[in-house]
Amino acid sequence: MAMSHFHQANQIRKTSAMVSSVGDDIIRAKRQTNYELDGIDQRIDRLTLLCEAMWELMRQTTGLTDEHLAHKVAQLDATDGRTDLKRAKTSTACGCGAMVPAKSMMCQFCGAPAPARSAFDAV
Ligand SMILES: [Zn+2]
Repeated sequence: MAMSHFHQANQIRKTSAMVSSVGDDIIRAKRQTNYELDGIDQRIDRLTLLCEAMWELMRQTTGLTDEHLAHKVAQLDATDGRTDLKRAKTSTACGCGAMVPAKSMMCQFCGAPAPARSAFDAV
């Protein structure tokens, strides 16, 4: 009886230590995720500010209107057949005939560098 009680107490201590360790891992992962989200928020804020500044300059110097911009956004949004306010990243054809996904740096079939594409596909 005493041996069984000792064994149970030992198991409880081991399990408690394991749970505590997992808890520490979760806390570290949450801290890292929050840090990464803060960085993403800052990048989005900078990108939004740059886009707004570029649009203001274009509007002031070209006569384009907000309606022109809305029309172009809708047009680009629909290029992949879906109107979901997401930018479609398009594949481009390699010289060997294979299609190279937008995020790939080289052709998976022949190893050639990815064909030239829009600078926005690299974002
Ligand atoms: Zn190729």
